[in-house]
Amino acid sequence: MNRSLWRNQGSITARDCVKAANSFDVAIIGGGFSGLWSAYHLKQLQPSLKIAIFEQKYVGYGASGRNGGWASAEYPTSNSRLIKEHGVQTYNNLRKSLIESIDEIGQIAKSNAWQIEYAKGGALVFATNKAQLTRISSEIDDEHKFLTKDQASELLNVANIKGGIYTPHCAALNPFNLTQSLAKYLESIGVKIFEESKVEEISDKALLVNGHRIGCQISIRATEAFTARKWIANQQIPIYSLMIATERLPSEILTQIRNSQRATFQEACNLITYAQITGDNRLAIGGRGSRYKLFSHLSERSETDVRMHSALEKRAVKWFPQLQSVNFEYRWGGPIALTRRWQSYLNYNPITGQAAIGGYVGDGVTLSYLVAKTLAQIIDGQKTPDLPFVNQRIGRWEPEPIRYLAVNAGFKATVVADFEERITGRPSLIAAVVDPLINR
Ligand SMILES: Cc1cc2nc3c(=O)[nH]c(=O)nc-3n(C[C@H](O)[C@H](O)[C@H](O)COP(=O)(O)OP(=O)(O)OC[C@H]3O[C@@H](n4cnc5c(N)ncnc54)[C@H](O)[C@@H]3O)c2cc1C
Repeated sequence: MNRSLWRNQGSITARDCVKAANSFDVAIIGGGFSGLWSAYHLKQLQPSLKIAIFEQKYVGYGASGRNGGWASAEYPTSNSRLIKEHGVQTYNNLRKSLIESIDEIGQIAKSNAWQIEYAKGGALVFATNKAQLTRISSEIDDEHKFLTKDQASELLNVANIKGGIYTPHCAALNPFNLTQSLAKYLESIGVKIFEESKVEEISDKALLVNGHRIGCQISIRATEAFTARKWIANQQIPIYSLMIATERLPSEILTQIRNSQRATFQEACNLITYAQITGDNRLAIGGRGSRYKLFSHLSERSETDVRMHSALEKRAVKWFPQLQSVNFEYRWGGPIALTRRWQSYLNYNPITGQAAIGGYVGDGVTLSYLVAKTLAQIIDGQKTPDLPFVNQRIGRWEPEPIRYLAVNAGFKATVVADFEERITGRPSLIAAVVDPLINR
């Protein structure tokens, strides 16, 4: 049941585990995008740095190897809140940096001939009812243009499409291949990557890994939803996002679906969905809504929530009725990290040498690149543009069981909100009440 499209297609290189004490200039905890891009950018700025990455399983094991492959310019918190809390200049810096980061990822991949199926076809949010259309119409800005029903269905032939909004700022890619290519590249420039190497303790200038002391001037925690609870004290919780993918689609179905530019796409529901046509012509679709576990437990069972996977399958067939006869060959999922105020973070203390980055909610493909790049510049002593995630105080989640009840009630409310919108044809009142409560 738990079979990831990306993981099952990519080849994987086994690496050494930590078997003895050692020391490095920089020790990075976590072999996902955050950890890998941190090493990449540090090496760009200071090629002589001795860097090691410690990954408890294998490179790309976490969300970086399992995601929807949207390299978007999205940020977890709303534009209005960003402007209110950080000012227009910081907001503009963020928009510009995220948009540039999408291209930079593409350029790095191209110049190194990485096979990551990168296609910058933009992103479409489409409406299938009047309420969704009203809601997305209010989101038009200089990055998003409105598409009429005909224009939207010209791009993507979804049943009952009523219109959409389109941004050119998104690329589809194969995330697991990106982790593998990046790791191999890092090794070629001298970064040491250890797998099956769990970091047990982080202290000033040292880590404890597989029982061995690793000395370091700087440590970077890049462990996102897999972070040990003792390191985050209720500052973030894991939420599961689940995905499915079809068999390779026959050319007649691909022609009917259209989307030859491989724009990523999602329906404008309150409960988040996301999809892409992959580089090898499958539909890969994901969504949230799997139940949050009491005390923030990570559980592989949550990755195979049958109810969620079959809901995704139904949604795919609702969008594209021609998929009725197609096999859904892959089903998988993974956790994303949700901070109390949906806030991403880059915290670095130059005195202790300890850094931590993450809190991307479900937007970490491009954002992890930008956060890691910014961290490398800060460590290098450079002046960086003001960005909203730098040295942020992160709030704490409510104690259990209040947290469990509230988070799962929030999920239920978004499902009901979508139902309400289908019935009334107006943007949901329930969603209007829930949105401020979840501090998005
Ligand atoms: C199903 C799904 C779909 C998604 N879709 C998208 C999308 O389309 N677009 C988008 O922008 N974002 C998406 N996301 C989110 C995105 O994948 C993440 O935000 C991003 O990959 C986070 O990267 P990371 O390196 O910070 O964390 P991860 O990739 O989770 O890596 C953390 C790593 O740390 C390791 N680790 C943890 N603790 C230790 C320890 N003590 N010692 C050693 N290693 C440790 C873990 O094993 C893991 O490999 C999705 C996520 C999921 C789960």
